[in-house]
Amino acid sequence: MLIRGAEIWGHGLADLRIAGSRVAAIGALSPAPGEDVLDARGGALLPGLHDHHIHLTALAARAASVQCGPPEVTDADQLAAALHAVPGAGWIRGIGYHESVMGLPGAADLDRLVADRPLRLQHRSGRMWLLNSRALDLLLAEAPAPAGLEREAGRFTGRLFDADRWLREALGSEPPDLAALSRELASRGVTGVTDMSPGNDPGIAAHFVRQIESGALLQHCRLAGTLALAEAAPANWRIGPAKLHLHEAALPPFDEAAAFIAAAHAQHRAAAIHCVSEVELVFALALLEAAGPAPGDRIEHVSVAAPELVERMAALSLSACVQPDFVAERGDRYLLDVEPRHIPDLYRLRSLAAAGIAMAGGSDAPFGSADPWAAMRAAVARTTREGAVLGLGEALSPEEALALYLANPEDLAQRRGIAVGEEADLCLLDRPWTEARERLDGGDVRATFVSGQAIQDPPL
Ligand SMILES: [Zn+2]
Repeated sequence: MLIRGAEIWGHGLADLRIAGSRVAAIGALSPAPGEDVLDARGGALLPGLHDHHIHLTALAARAASVQCGPPEVTDADQLAAALHAVPGAGWIRGIGYHESVMGLPGAADLDRLVADRPLRLQHRSGRMWLLNSRALDLLLAEAPAPAGLEREAGRFTGRLFDADRWLREALGSEPPDLAALSRELASRGVTGVTDMSPGNDPGIAAHFVRQIESGALLQHCRLAGTLALAEAAPANWRIGPAKLHLHEAALPPFDEAAAFIAAAHAQHRAAAIHCVSEVELVFALALLEAAGPAPGDRIEHVSVAAPELVERMAALSLSACVQPDFVAERGDRYLLDVEPRHIPDLYRLRSLAAAGIAMAGGSDAPFGSADPWAAMRAAVARTTREGAVLGLGEALSPEEALALYLANPEDLAQRRGIAVGEEADLCLLDRPWTEARERLDGGDVRATFVSGQAIQDPPL
C-alpha cells in the first residue's frame, strides 16, 4: 500500500509505503504495478495513538447496560421506565446507580420494579451491586454466598459488596466481546491500548488472546493487573505494570502494599498506583520510597498533587498517566467540592512536565470518555463543561497534548515516531496538522492502520 502526498509526522510532505506490517519507505515514491494507492490529499499522517489507561471489558459491558443514575435517571419512576425498556427476557444489567434515585434498595424493593427478570444494578462507585430476588436465586444456585453478600436477620438483603469475582463466577459469564469497541477506538486513530484493570488475571488474559486471535480486538494490547498475570502469561504476551488500586477510605496495610510493589519488581514489572486523592499520593510515595522505585513505576491519575509531592515524584523518577478530559467532565463538580487550597493542585500537566516527569495520556474509560481527541482539547483549553477555566497555567500546546498519546507504552519517556522499518501503526487525518491542531477533533481521522492493516476503511 502506498500513501501518497501525506504530511508525515516528523518528515513533512512525502509518500509512505507499507509492506507487510512495516513502513518500507518514505520519500518521493511511485506506485509499484498493482499496488494499492491512497491519496492523502495533504492530510497529516501521525503515529497511531495509544490509550495508556483504559478498562476494555468494563467499557464493552457498559455498552450493553442501562444507565440507572443521574442525569438520565433521577427517581424511582424513571428507574422503572429505564429497566422496562430493556429488550429481551434475560438479565438486566444496570450501571451508574446513585442513592439519590431511591436510597439503597433491597431485593424486595427492586422486585417492585422488576420481578420477572434477574436484575443487577451497579452502584456508580463500582464497589456495590444491588440484586432483585430473581437474581439472588439464580446466583445462589450457582455458588455459595460470599462474605460480601449482606445479611439482615439471617436473610440476604440483595446488597453485594466488593465481590465482582464471585459475581463473574456465579454468572458463569464470558467477559464481553470487544469487536464493536475496538472499531470505535480505531475510528479515533487508536492503534494501541494499555488495559489497567487491577483485577486482570490469567482468565482475562486468555479472553484477550482469544479476542485478538479471532480478529475482534484489533489494537496492540498491553495488559496490566494482578501479580498472577505474570505467572500464567501466554507466550509473547505484553505484560504491563502490576496495578495497586488505593482507596483513601480503606488503605491496605503499609507492609502488605510495599510487599506487593517488591513482588512486582521481582517479576521485572513496574508498579502502577492509582492515586486520585492527596492522601493516596502521599501513601504511594511513602511506599515507593520504602520499597525503592524501579524503572517504569507510575502514578495513575495524579488528580491532586501539591508542589512538594510533584518534587518527590520527580526525585523517584516516576511517570504519570494523566486523564486531561477529567477537567472537562468533572471540573465543575471539583470547583464546588474540592477545598480551595487544592484547586491549583488539580490535574496538573505542565508543572509535571516541567519537573521532568514522563507523562502519558489515558482515558480511564468507561469512567471517562474514550475519545483521546476530547482529552487533547481539554489539555489545551482546560475548560469545564460549564465553561469555567481550571488551572490555565497547566495547559499544554496541541503538540504536547498529542504527544501524551504518542508515548511508548514500554517506556513513557519515549515518543513513538514514523520511521522506515518500524511497525506501520498510523493515523491519517483528512487535513493538515496546522488545521487539525486548532480543532483536535476525532472526526478528522480518515484512516487508521495497525501493523500495516487498515482497520477503518479508507475512503479512496
Ligand atoms: Zn482506571
